[in-house]
Amino acid sequence: MFVDIAKINIKAGDGGNGAVTFHREKYVASGGPDGGDGGKGGDVVFVADTNLSTLQDFRYKRKYAANPGQNGMSGRKNGRKAEDLIIRVPLGTLVKDAETGRIIADISSKEPVVVAKGGKGGWGNSHFATPTRQTPRFARPGMPGEEFDIQLELKLLADVGLVGFPNVGKSTLLSVVSQAKPEIADYHFTTITPKLGVVSAKEGKSFVMADIPGLIEGAWEGVGLGHQFLRHVERCRMLVHIVDIAGSEGRDPKEDFRVINEELKKFNAELAERPMVVAGNKCDLATDEQIEDFRKYVEGLGYEFYPIMAAIRYDVDPLLDKITEMLSKLPPVTVYEAEPAPQVDIDSLNSREVKITKCDGIYFVEGKWLYKVMQSVNFDDYESLNYFQNVLISGGVIEALRDAGIEEGDTVSIYEVQFDFVE
Ligand code: GDP
Ligand code: MG
Repeated sequence: MFVDIAKINIKAGDGGNGAVTFHREKYVASGGPDGGDGGKGGDVVFVADTNLSTLQDFRYKRKYAANPGQNGMSGRKNGRKAEDLIIRVPLGTLVKDAETGRIIADISSKEPVVVAKGGKGGWGNSHFATPTRQTPRFARPGMPGEEFDIQLELKLLADVGLVGFPNVGKSTLLSVVSQAKPEIADYHFTTITPKLGVVSAKEGKSFVMADIPGLIEGAWEGVGLGHQFLRHVERCRMLVHIVDIAGSEGRDPKEDFRVINEELKKFNAELAERPMVVAGNKCDLATDEQIEDFRKYVEGLGYEFYPIMAAIRYDVDPLLDKITEMLSKLPPVTVYEAEPAPQVDIDSLNSREVKITKCDGIYFVEGKWLYKVMQSVNFDDYESLNYFQNVLISGGVIEALRDAGIEEGDTVSIYEVQFDFVE
């Protein structure tokens, strides 16, 4: 079975905790704080692997977690950063938020992409020493690593998509123009995996052609196997629509052509607009009238028509030349932009509890929801910072700090930010 959708859970590593230790040495009365920082947790990183062509590895293993960072140690020794967890996926895999469908990343180049960030390590107590606080007996815990459910969706990266009814000769064409070895047989649905092949064209040019199997009427709403393959047509820069021009299986090629176009349109209206050329295959079985009649029909609809015999590669070159020429004028393969994470709507959170701990004059604020909010805040950006301030007010954090007895000038520490309290 060809797997091109998978749902998995990923968890980046937690940061290591900061250490609370004091310098000890013979003959030295009381040593200062020397607790080191925790190490950063490992990121979850996605990398495209051109040797993979399906997502089937993700069918059984559903949970992926990176290691936590090491805790800080005495002698100001920082904990080691954990190694990143590398997840290999086929080129062209989209990573989406399983809950909202938001596109997190499109793994369509060799660039590795960090999808879940590891938590920062906590500061050791040596960071908290001040002239008035010489023996801080606290350190910061490491931050939790990001964790979420994601949906992986393979959308092949190809310049040209071959579409058409089963058995019209799509796999045969791919096999005679490239090194790809698709299954070819005279029964329907032999091809159950879209296959990619690199086609060498004139003047050293080349392009990637994809054999998109099994489209039939109703594919867009799930009939047959075609619906799961339609997704793979979406990125193709152009389509080659192949018909069995001889109607060798008793169907009418014009009707075939109409039906497939309709399926494409119903799946995604944009697909109907995709540049397309038409290849009439199995000319050896057709009469001249059949060929001319079909030619008139598609040319009348504004398409260019190429009669071929894929099985013996007859008249295939003019088709390849046309494809090369069209590709030279078409925009590159679509790469999906990552969509920004929405800011957390704090009114929708059912719990807005915060825990405040006072330690040596510092007010530590913790709250799961608050941490989530902070992950979406860019602290270098003025507007983002404003939003965060509003969250502190409307989320009741400021009020909770007052209840805990905070005064002007006291230090507030909320995960990775620290600031002085001003009324
Ligand atoms: P697909 O389902 O569209 O991928 O079709 P295949 O490539 O598997 O071909 C289906 C059948 O048509 C196979 O038996 C091929 O050998 C046959 N075929 C392909 N091209 C030609 C051709 O030019 N002439 C004839 N007569 N048969 C062909
Ligand atoms: Mg096939």
